[in-house]
Amino acid sequence: MDVYVEKQKCTGCEHCKDVCPVAVFEMMDINSDVNKDSAPPEWQWKGEHDPAVYGKWKDVTDGHNHFKEKSVAVNGPSCILCQACLIECEGECIVITDDNNTVYRSVYK
Ligand code: SF4
Ligand code: SF4
Repeated sequence: MDVYVEKQKCTGCEHCKDVCPVAVFEMMDINSDVNKDSAPPEWQWKGEHDPAVYGKWKDVTDGHNHFKEKSVAVNGPSCILCQACLIECEGECIVITDDNNTVYRSVYK
């Protein structure tokens, strides 16, 4: 299984880390090396949040530190495709590819 996060769209909400049963995700400060997962070049962090996602979530106070950290899929091969993270992802920015090359994308519910 391959897992990556489209970094510009990640709000830092930590939901993925909270729900993943096999510790695929690690939260990292936006000023650190967050491009450690398999995100393709166009989805690596270059210092600018996605404007639409930022506008939607910047004023939401739900106990999480929005836009201070990014989620990094440090342990993608351990993913068991339970899909829990895919419905919890505020930024709709988690992409999982299984061993048959089927791609799963997060849709926030
Ligand atoms: S689908 Fe994979 S990465 Fe997402 S919560 Fe389940 S095991 Fe973790
Ligand atoms: S659930 Fe999505 S938006 Fe929230 S920290 Fe994880 S990857 Fe980022």
